[in-house]
Amino acid sequence: MEIAFRNIMILGFLILGNYSCDNPRKEKTDNLIVITNTSLIDMNNGQVSEGMTLIIKNGIITTIGKSNEIELSPEAKIVNGTGKYIIPGLWDMHAHTSSESVTRSILYPLFIANGVTGIRVLSADCFEPCWELDMSIEQSRGLQSEVKYGKVIGPNAILGSTYIHGVKSGEASTIKEPGNRQDGKKLVHLLLDRGVDFIKIYDEIPREAYFGIADEANKKELPIAGHVPASIKASEASDAGQKSIEHCCAGSLFEECSSEEKRLREQITELIQSREPKNMYSLVLELVKTYDDAKCQEVFKKFLENNTFFTPTLVATEMDNILRDYDWRDDSRLKYLPEKEHDFWIEDEISTKEILGIQNPLIREKRFNIVGDMNKAGVKLLAGSDCGVFGVHYGFGLHEELELLVEAGLTELEALQTATLNAAEYADKSDSYGNIKIGFIADLILLEANPLDNISNTKEIYSVLSNGKFYDRQSLDTILKKVAIEVAK
Ligand SMILES: [Zn+2]
Repeated sequence: MEIAFRNIMILGFLILGNYSCDNPRKEKTDNLIVITNTSLIDMNNGQVSEGMTLIIKNGIITTIGKSNEIELSPEAKIVNGTGKYIIPGLWDMHAHTSSESVTRSILYPLFIANGVTGIRVLSADCFEPCWELDMSIEQSRGLQSEVKYGKVIGPNAILGSTYIHGVKSGEASTIKEPGNRQDGKKLVHLLLDRGVDFIKIYDEIPREAYFGIADEANKKELPIAGHVPASIKASEASDAGQKSIEHCCAGSLFEECSSEEKRLREQITELIQSREPKNMYSLVLELVKTYDDAKCQEVFKKFLENNTFFTPTLVATEMDNILRDYDWRDDSRLKYLPEKEHDFWIEDEISTKEILGIQNPLIREKRFNIVGDMNKAGVKLLAGSDCGVFGVHYGFGLHEELELLVEAGLTELEALQTATLNAAEYADKSDSYGNIKIGFIADLILLEANPLDNISNTKEIYSVLSNGKFYDRQSLDTILKKVAIEVAK
């Protein structure tokens, strides 16, 4: 059952390295990269500036200007950007990793090969005994420092705690599975000591414990993010300072947006507390049928007031869409999926479908409408794939999420912002990430075609700059080839 918890979608800081003082890139290289004559897309307003040259030194953008006005240094590596579009590296704000060795040799490289230069990992730690597809925070941190020193190809990562469940029903409260306020507070200190970047909230935390965690975490400025426990309303989580809420929308929003909230919430809580929930989509369908737009707009207002981010993870919920003409078993990208992950996907699909039951098309429709409405209301959305759950490929999944966000009503620019500007804002790094400006970190993607014309063009990757290194198409293909070989071993 513990395994299934990783994926129940219905229910669903930033130590990017302190670049200001001890930037490891400086010791690593003194490389100079110049990208000439490219079209630069401003993530703020979607303005496309043609014929631009960028100079990148040690992984930082030092110059941006019209190509005919910039003198090129003979030592620089010149990249001809003619006909290409340059955007910031993308962030998958709801990602999962696996064991240390698999993450190092397979998953991390896959993110870079897909232009995903940043990830938020839910979760990047585990309490002993750890599941074989998990890493401890020491291992997660170790990999991150290898990335920063150029020893491992991988994205920057925001590292979440292990899943915080509440006390199991009938058992006594403990610090690791809190059932009361005191243990909730103590848990925050335990997680602070472990050095996580945020606390990953899960479904079963009782109210008292949740508010204990939230209050103490706020005091200690340790963000909390994740699911909304069944005992809490989304608006309460927002008021309590939860920084982001994950998965649209069962468990996160459908309940509070229903005119039958009280009755249905009780039934759902009961199911979750049974720890063997089954056929939850029948209750979700009731929630959808009793959807009350005015109630939902009130929740959006809360999110806006409290600056609560929302990560829909639409691509993950697509996997149990019965009308979708897609079977992950036929996907050519399975060659990039490690064997143990593949085994997990098989189990995950079975347990997810058992827990959720069959998804009615009305649920999907409502989900997409809510995401569109939330966007219109001004709620900050984050692109997150939930890669690691069945059917969602590491790295690739983020691009599918962007497509689905456009289907839900976001413009192409707004979709791009969920993986760039909004991600940087979430991470309090708007001064160095999320756009292309002088002094910003040069995590960048050169695309063959304009993503503002068609969001699917984010997949047309010509080259990636990450962590001071330049990967042309050939190097990206080599990364993919090596991953496939590693998987086949
Ligand atoms: Zn997840």
